[in-house]
Amino acid sequence: MHLGLDTGGTGTKFVLVDADGETVGTGEIPTNPDDPVDSFGYLPNMLNQWQGDREPLVPRVVGLACAGIVDPENLTLGRSPNLPGWEGRDLGAVLRRVFPASGIVLVNDVNAALYGEYRQGAGQGCRDLVMLALGTGVGGGVLVDGKLLTGGHHGAAELGHMVLDPQGPVCRCGNRGCLEAWAGSVALRHRARQAAQGEDDGAADLRRRAQDRGCDLDPRDLAEAAAAGNELASSIYAEAGTRLGQAVGNLLNVLDPDKVIIGGGVAQAGELLLEPCCREARRIVLAEGARETPIVPAELGVHAAAVGACWLAREAEAGG
Ligand SMILES: [Zn+2]
Repeated sequence: MHLGLDTGGTGTKFVLVDADGETVGTGEIPTNPDDPVDSFGYLPNMLNQWQGDREPLVPRVVGLACAGIVDPENLTLGRSPNLPGWEGRDLGAVLRRVFPASGIVLVNDVNAALYGEYRQGAGQGCRDLVMLALGTGVGGGVLVDGKLLTGGHHGAAELGHMVLDPQGPVCRCGNRGCLEAWAGSVALRHRARQAAQGEDDGAADLRRRAQDRGCDLDPRDLAEAAAAGNELASSIYAEAGTRLGQAVGNLLNVLDPDKVIIGGGVAQAGELLLEPCCREARRIVLAEGARETPIVPAELGVHAAAVGACWLAREAEAGG
């Protein structure tokens, strides 16, 4: 049995996989972003509910995916905006208190999601993949010949912080003009708010929608407005998609992968985002053959990172 965990700012998703690779359970427990010990304390009890009267469940290896800069050797988490109280903590020691007999693997969450897509989702059959996950921020993952690219200082594949315009909007990381400053959900909310305050055609419709919602419009509201014919809403997605395409085009020129996978909540806008993305990416790509590289939506949904963490746990055991 192997256990994959994906810890975000509010919850930890988990996936249990048996020796044959079959998923035997999935679920979610709350996360305390200030305290990892508190977050995992009652996980074994929860898992043992499945077991009933049988032997307590002991995963052979636990794979833990976390947002942030991950040090897989020391099992520590560096900069992590969603889990501030976990930064610098020895997560290996925390998990060993809960699962003393299990091996531990630590991985960045988007890297884990990419690995899940590689093994079970949109990236099956490929060896070279790039993933962009458009959530609150924008995360990235790169797979080269079946191996995740982590870099010399555990800092590789921060694709959301690729600077596309040094004079662009300020990103949450403090730099200007990162991809995330256009294509993350925080950025889209901000754009929607600005657009609703303006005088352009469609602004009044956005104001009305925000009033009906009783809060700022989120990317899904914006996509609904665009689908209903609001061109101002469409233009916000077109801008985000074009910036995404600029990043994807750069990545195609650098890495020439078999496929680019776009995941995360913002990607649920589908063609509204992907169409301008593909158009811009293809305009930038130099190698003839790379122009047709598929740019596809992720397939595994919210459990992708937990699934990937589980696969990495299995393979860590197989590889010793
Ligand atoms: Zn940034």
